Amino acid sequence: MRQQNSVQLTDSSIKKHPDYDQHQMVAYREDKATGLRAFIAIHNQNLGPALGGCRMYPYSNKNNALTDVLRLSKGMTYKSAIAGLPLGGGKAVIIGNPRRDKSKELLLAMGNFIDSIQGSYISAEDSGTSVADLAIMGETTQWVSGIHSAHEFHGDPSPYTAMGTFEGIKAAVKHQLQHSDLAGISVAVQGVGNVGMHLTKLLTQAGARVYVADVNEDNLNEAKERFAATVVDKNKIHRLDVDVFAPCAMGGAINSTSIQEIRASIIAGAANNQLSKPDMAETARQLGILYAPDYVINAGGIIDIHHQQLGERNVDRVRKEVTAIGATLTSIFHRAKSTEMPTSVIADQMAEERFLARRQQTSIA
Ligand code: NAD
Repeated sequence: MRQQNSVQLTDSSIKKHPDYDQHQMVAYREDKATGLRAFIAIHNQNLGPALGGCRMYPYSNKNNALTDVLRLSKGMTYKSAIAGLPLGGGKAVIIGNPRRDKSKELLLAMGNFIDSIQGSYISAEDSGTSVADLAIMGETTQWVSGIHSAHEFHGDPSPYTAMGTFEGIKAAVKHQLQHSDLAGISVAVQGVGNVGMHLTKLLTQAGARVYVADVNEDNLNEAKERFAATVVDKNKIHRLDVDVFAPCAMGGAINSTSIQEIRASIIAGAANNQLSKPDMAETARQLGILYAPDYVINAGGIIDIHHQQLGERNVDRVRKEVTAIGATLTSIFHRAKSTEMPTSVIADQMAEERFLARRQQTSIA
């Protein structure tokens, strides 16, 4: 393979970036032959190698891509720590339009870039990349996951993300509404894509009444026909008078406008970065809304990817770890209630207790 231009960003300019937050490594690579322009960021490896998806997105400039990779990799540190995984946090982003700019050569070059990090960063699919794309990257590096051929969903972690979200909704309903099951509970699912559709299935099987909204008509028809979900306007889904609002589409669903309109007493869904600003969690608390922190409730996928990376496949073990998301959330809810703090702050504290404690042990040894 021809040598590509790669640069490890250790200069003071990266340290001044507002989202730098003590990242352990940030690397950038450009390859003119394939058009690859990509960042890999490793936020923290105290608990193990940094695992996180490789996103491809048409960022308008390099700095936006850098901001995204820094925020996302930090989020992965917290997600893996709270899920109890022996993993650190990292992420990769490719600057480009996945529909127009993706080629086999570009993906092979990305695999080569990942390989140069020598296993400190392990990649997986993310928005703009697919299991098939990761399999191509896997031709030039062993450090990709989520492509396990014997996987029950062909490498797709979404069903496990949905399963964890379902367990999280059950835990939230028990804590907030004192209901031990979901029979008769109403849930508004915003976005019935890979995760939202599986979640709708699990909810309806459990006897919940499910309302769905999406911008994709095919997905809505599927949810209606297969699971008898009630379709509602995408601009009204968060305002429904239901027990649970489950954001499963894009980030930012909880913002200063929507939070005042939400009538559900529980927000529990799979979407990443649900809060437009961190203080939305405190607003939710003051309004009496129980918020299940996004990176806690949606960790089923990373648990599955971790087990795919291990190679041997023990489905019972994966399910057990995903199911434990419910218990983790219950302890967050109790601690938040007793301290009168937002659930997201408690989740951050619990994650930091795990990955910072490990650093202290390491440095003492
Ligand atoms: P997806 O793209 O398959 O589904 C998203 C769905 O939301 C699509 O059907 C899309 O049409 C719909 N949508 C987009 N804009 C909308 C809007 N304004 N209103 C209503 N619906 C809208 O993605 P996914 O894999 O199902 O992931 C959903 C969310 O969960 C994302 O935020 C993702 O980052 C997060 N997440 C996914 C996984 C996973 O395993 N796939 C893991 C962790 C977190």
